[in-house]
Amino acid sequence: MTTNHPFHVRIMKAADAGTDPDDGKWIAFCDRHGTLIAANTRKEARTSSDTREFCDDCRDEIAACDNALLRLRMRLEIAAQAVAACATFAGEKISDL
Ligand SMILES: [Zn+2]
Repeated sequence: MTTNHPFHVRIMKAADAGTDPDDGKWIAFCDRHGTLIAANTRKEARTSSDTREFCDDCRDEIAACDNALLRLRMRLEIAAQAVAACATFAGEKISDL
C-alpha cells in the first residue's frame, strides 16, 4: 500500500526487512528515516498508527514545522499591526484599503 501521508507506518515481516526475528517477527517502519520498532505480532506492530510514535526524526521534523509556523504567525501579526498603524497615520480605516 502506498500513501502520501508523511507519517505513514509500513508494517513488514522482520524476515523481509532483514531484522532479527528474535527481536520480534513484525516491524513497524518509517520509510522516510529508516527507523523501526519490532513487535511480536502483526497486530502489535499495527498499534503504531503514526511514525511519530517511534521515530525521533519525524518528531523533530514536526516540531521544526510547528516552530516555523509559530514564527510566521508572529511575523504576520507584526505586519498586520504595522499596516494598521500606517492606515491610522494616513487617516484611513483598515477596511477602506
Ligand atoms: Zn521518520
